[in-house]
Amino acid sequence: MCPSSDQADIVTDAENTDTGSIGTIGSASPPLIDLTGCDADDLDAVVKSLGLPGFRAKQIWRWIWRHGLTRFDDMTDLGKPVRALLPQHLIITRPVITSRQKSTDGTIKWLLRFADGNEAEAVYIPDADRGTLCVSSQVGCTLTCTFCHTGTQRLVRNLTVAEITGQVLIAMDELGEWPATHDGRRLTNIVMMGMGEPLFNYENVAKALRIIMSGEGIGLSKRRVTLSTSGVVPEIMRCGAELGVNLAISLHATNDELRDVLVPINRKYPLKTLIEACRNYPGLSNARRVTWEYVMLDGINDSDAEARALVNLIKGIPSKINLIPFNPWPGSGYERSKDDRIDSFAAIVMKAGYASPIRTPRGEDILAACGQLKTTSERLRKSQIKAITD
Ligand code: SAH
Ligand code: SF4
Repeated sequence: MCPSSDQADIVTDAENTDTGSIGTIGSASPPLIDLTGCDADDLDAVVKSLGLPGFRAKQIWRWIWRHGLTRFDDMTDLGKPVRALLPQHLIITRPVITSRQKSTDGTIKWLLRFADGNEAEAVYIPDADRGTLCVSSQVGCTLTCTFCHTGTQRLVRNLTVAEITGQVLIAMDELGEWPATHDGRRLTNIVMMGMGEPLFNYENVAKALRIIMSGEGIGLSKRRVTLSTSGVVPEIMRCGAELGVNLAISLHATNDELRDVLVPINRKYPLKTLIEACRNYPGLSNARRVTWEYVMLDGINDSDAEARALVNLIKGIPSKINLIPFNPWPGSGYERSKDDRIDSFAAIVMKAGYASPIRTPRGEDILAACGQLKTTSERLRKSQIKAITD
């Protein structure tokens, strides 16, 4: 079932034909332009194309990204004729929330439906000192890492810019985060660790992140944004140089033989090239380290020897290690490592100088953890389809 690296290539190219620039909605002509997919330059151009002066774009930008407005009528400094003109050409959308689940530990999972009926999930994970939103970059994933449920989903497409920013906007709405400058913000961090491979949708992810990081809007610092990749080596450098966000690598194995199976993109970009790209990631320092994600699979990658190999592999790179207890799903063929095995592995990692490396699974009661996203709705849909076809 492992894909060849060529397959990944085909989908990368095909899917990236989605422009992700100015989003349009509706089939009537002219279609409405969705401003949640526009960056500041797009908005400026759109506003000027309507015969309005450039400062109007700045006003609208702040209403959307600082105050979370979706109706032009509420933009009080625009003047009535402008407020009447804008909705004829422009729209400010949100994905539709099809389910909202809250875990006993405070984790919230939203299942979101987009205009074409496809769905993706965003998960909010509160902690003592931060609140992290886990954002999806694709519907499904073209890669089929053997332990990951997302990789088993048939439907795959890139999310547009508006669909990526829309996840953040929904979370801001739901958490009462407007205006974005208010004290005691609950959404402080973003991780591109939801469904999909963000570096296979680089243009849209990059544009969405730039919008979210804009100081004139939500203003999330790049230090508070982390992008997780399975190892799309050519885009790693770009990500660091152009976006400057934190980098997380789904490593999961310390030799090519095993990584070829667990993370099949390794056949195209083997460990040597991946580690080299990470070593050269721009701006690395002790304050800005690469996070190495390592899923703990019983009897597969969890020996003491592998813990030592892991420490050796990343030697010299400013690093954090994140041991993720495997989240089992039916038919995966894997099991979560035993607690004492994880402890023993962690002890070796800690002895080498990496602090508190085990990630506590969050939101398990609502299946909000890594690799489980969209599982239940997929099952639901399958059972619905079965009910219809039976
Ligand atoms: N595609 C990107 C980002 C999304 S996956 C990537 O692979 O990095 C986010 C993280 O969850 C990755 O580290 C992934 O390996 C991990 N993950 C996936 N399925 C998992 C599972 N069943 N149990 C634990 N971690 C899992
Ligand atoms: Fe895709 Fe990441 Fe899952 Fe691999 S781990 S199948 S890259 S979402």
